[in-house]
Amino acid sequence: MRFQAAVLRSYEDPFAVEEVALRTEPAAGELLVEIAGCGMCRTDLAVRRSAGSSPLPAVLGHEGSGVVVRSGGGPDNAISVGDHVVLSFDSCGHCQNCRGAAPAYCDSFASLNLFGGRGEGAPRLTDADGRALAPRWFGQSSFAEYALVSARNAVRVDTKLPVEMLGPLGCGFLTGAGAVLNTFSAGPGDSLVVLGAGAVGLAAVMAATAAGALTVAVDRHPRRLALAERFGAIPLLAGTAGLAERIRRLTDGGARYALDTTASAPLVNEGLRALRPTGSLGLVARLHDPLPLEPGTLDRGRSIRHICEGDAVPGLLIPLLTRLWQAGRFPFDQLIRTYPLTDINEAERDCEAGRVVKPVLLPAGRSR
Ligand SMILES: [Zn+2]
Ligand SMILES: [Zn+2]
Repeated sequence: MRFQAAVLRSYEDPFAVEEVALRTEPAAGELLVEIAGCGMCRTDLAVRRSAGSSPLPAVLGHEGSGVVVRSGGGPDNAISVGDHVVLSFDSCGHCQNCRGAAPAYCDSFASLNLFGGRGEGAPRLTDADGRALAPRWFGQSSFAEYALVSARNAVRVDTKLPVEMLGPLGCGFLTGAGAVLNTFSAGPGDSLVVLGAGAVGLAAVMAATAAGALTVAVDRHPRRLALAERFGAIPLLAGTAGLAERIRRLTDGGARYALDTTASAPLVNEGLRALRPTGSLGLVARLHDPLPLEPGTLDRGRSIRHICEGDAVPGLLIPLLTRLWQAGRFPFDQLIRTYPLTDINEAERDCEAGRVVKPVLLPAGRSR
């Protein structure tokens, strides 16, 4: 079958929306999904800075959602044609961490999601001239009208929900909300400082507010801080003198948790100093430089760790987040701006410039 997709051919070129061809039917354990919408995430854009490690040409996009149009069946495939699904990250299902309900730490996470797919033989996705495209990105490649996915990374959702808006629940919003609800298990009486109020940080703010925790949000953009405040956080401008001391005063002696989405060493050090004894800081951004910690920042039982995909089991967290949205307690739709897939380069520019928190691309024929 042939359909439109956004192809990235080099690290420097804009995306090209063009016809691609998919060579095979879904195998057992696979689904063909008609994409209704796909969020743009920082990890898509980071491919440009991957210095050769991400294979190109490729169809990126890993926050897809849509309707199942064909199923390859299979013993562990409980999803049927007509089901609405949110696509998340892929995992193998049989390594120790997958069996331990920690699929974000799957032994094969990098190969399945970033560098090669499931080892399928012949390339399945090609350009219109038959030249191979990189194996599917995050088990999906959803900047396209259709995606052939592993049933394991598809989560069925209520057909009454606006399916085209739900894709970011599969990665960006899952990461922020999962850090708060899974990693920290934050609840009433807890306090959280969020460093960086982008898509991940604002999802963390919403989840913390929904959980009854006190949140302080730190960012250098006043517009983002205004959003954080709307979702229940106390806003603080990054670079303010005595930032850690101010957070400690606002949180009755120090925050119990901190979530860093910036990978900025000065902010991470401030975040650690803002913690109460035994408090913990989670890092979600990929570090590109060494992270020097100042003396004393880990004293008195404070800890720091990396958090991948919000420690989520997507099949559990995504339905929880849609229920919170329906109850008006996780208003993620307010962070989204939609673009036709053909405007993907404009969406990227707006994202890089901070003009939009979460672009969602709508393939042709879909509009709101
Ligand atoms: Zn695994
Ligand atoms: Zn992502």
